[in-house]
Amino acid sequence: MAETTLSISRELVEKIRAHGAKTYPHECCGALLGRDNSPREILGLFPLVNRRDDSPRNRFSVTAQDVLDAEKAARQQSMDVVGWYHSHPDHPARPSQYDRDHAWPWYSYIIVSVAEGKPQDMTSWRLNDDRAEFSSEGIDIQQGAAG
Ligand SMILES: [Zn+2]
Repeated sequence: MAETTLSISRELVEKIRAHGAKTYPHECCGALLGRDNSPREILGLFPLVNRRDDSPRNRFSVTAQDVLDAEKAARQQSMDVVGWYHSHPDHPARPSQYDRDHAWPWYSYIIVSVAEGKPQDMTSWRLNDDRAEFSSEGIDIQQGAAG
């Protein structure tokens, strides 16, 4: 199986990290907007409100309305929703069982670990087509100006 790679600007990486720091100790989440080229390009973000008030610390969830809103925002910028990002407060940047149960194949899932309010590792994952496990995805961070 070919390993996949994401291309993303330093600026957007910092925005995801800042979002995770801001919502700490709760999870942040949002959509990744871009184009599914080779490599897949992340060109914008669509931050979401974590609607799970029963356990916002470790349960990010994307609702059907979130998907519609994100797709609308992407279309307005001639982009697609190519993935989702969320933070793991005080947990490693690895998908949880919950993440796997609630993920869809094809999308990229960026996870940023936030320890004591400070962003740490960032990883990306794609759920295999059989939904049994995630495969790690490379992140190619573009330095300099976005775009
Ligand atoms: Zn998670």
